[in-house]
Amino acid sequence: MERVYNFSPGPAALPTEVLNKAKEELLNWQDQGMSVMEVSHRGKPFVEYAAKSEVTLRELLSIPENYKVLFLQGGASLQFAAVPLNLTNASQKADYVVTGNWGKKAAKEAERFLSVNLAVDGIDGNYFGIPDSATWNLSDDASYIHLVINETVVGVEFHQIPDMSKAPLVADMSSTLLSRPINVNRFGVIYAGAQKNIGPAGLTVVIVRDDLLDKARSETPTVTNYRAMSDSDSMSNTPPTFNWYLAGLVFDWVKKEGGVLEMAQRNKRKAEKLYEAIDESDFYSNPIDPKCRSWMNVPFTLPDSKMDSLFLEESSNAGLANLKGHRLVGGMRASIYNAMPEAGVDALVNFMNEFQKRYG
Ligand SMILES: *Cc1c(COP(=O)(O)O)cnc(C)c1O
Repeated sequence: MERVYNFSPGPAALPTEVLNKAKEELLNWQDQGMSVMEVSHRGKPFVEYAAKSEVTLRELLSIPENYKVLFLQGGASLQFAAVPLNLTNASQKADYVVTGNWGKKAAKEAERFLSVNLAVDGIDGNYFGIPDSATWNLSDDASYIHLVINETVVGVEFHQIPDMSKAPLVADMSSTLLSRPINVNRFGVIYAGAQKNIGPAGLTVVIVRDDLLDKARSETPTVTNYRAMSDSDSMSNTPPTFNWYLAGLVFDWVKKEGGVLEMAQRNKRKAEKLYEAIDESDFYSNPIDPKCRSWMNVPFTLPDSKMDSLFLEESSNAGLANLKGHRLVGGMRASIYNAMPEAGVDALVNFMNEFQKRYG
C-alpha cells in the first residue's frame, strides 16, 4: 500500500525523507556494522550524535546559553509530576491555566504534589477559547504558572503569550515545539512529548532555565531530576537511543527545509486553508474562537454525527487516514503537524467539498 496522508494526533506522521534515511542506515549506522539501536549510548558515535542533535535543536529554537536541554522519557505526562517535584516543595502553590483537557490533566497530577490554583478553569468539552488574561485568577504567591500552548484535543492555541506575572512560566509545548518560532526567554521550563512534531513516542524534550535546576525535592526520582539529568547529559540511565536518533534526523530535516520560521509559514497557510473551507461551508463547523484556533489540530463536525462513520470510511478509502475526533469532542480532527505536506491539506479540502456535494 502507498503511504497515505496521516492526520493522526499522535503518534503522528513523520517526514518520509526522515523515514527513508533511517531505513537506509538501519543495518549499518555510521559504519559501525550495526544499527543505532545496538550501539552503546556511552560510545563515541552516539555521544557525538546526541550532542550534535542538541546543537541543531538549540539553533532551530534559538535557545539561550542559560537554558539546559534534556532528552528524557516518560512522555509529557511524567512532566506533569516532574514540574512540581523539581520546582517546589509541598507547601507551595502553582497557578494552572486550563484551556483544554491536557491542562486539566496536568493540574490534576500536580495536585498530588502541591497546592494548585486554577487561574483559568475551562470546563470539560467546553473549551472554545482563551479568556482575556486580565481576567485570570492568578495568585500572588505562585511558584510558577502552567500553560498548555496548544491544546491538541480541543484545538485551542496561544498565538501570543500574555504578559502576566513574575512567576516563571512553565509550558507544555508537546504539539507546539518546532511548529513555529518561540521566545524561550519568556519561559522557565518548556517540555514536549516527541510524538507530535519531534519524532517517535518515548522521548521527551525538556528545556529548563538554569536557575531552576536546583530546587528539586529530595525524593524526586533521579531520572526525572532536572539537575541530575543535566549533569549527566541526559544519560544518568540508558536514554531511548533510537528515538533520540530519529529526533535528530527530524531536527536536520526542519533545518534543511528552512527552519521553524518556514515551518510556521507553512503551518499557518495549511491551517487557514482548512478553517476557510470549514467556515465557508454550511455543512462543516468548528466552534473555536478564531483568535485562538490551533494551527496544529483542527477539529470539525458534520451537520449530523450519524454521518461520521461514513465520512471516516470514505476519507480513509481516499487515502486520508485517522481523521476521527477525540472522544471528548466527537466529530473529526485533522492534525496537521510539520510533516503534513500542504498537498495533504489540499487533498482533505477537496475530499470535504466532494463529500458535502454528495451528502449535503
Ligand atoms: C500528546 C500530549 C500530551 C501527552 O503526551 P504523552 O507523551 O503521551 O504523555 C500532553 N500534552 C499535550 C499538549 C499533548 O499534545
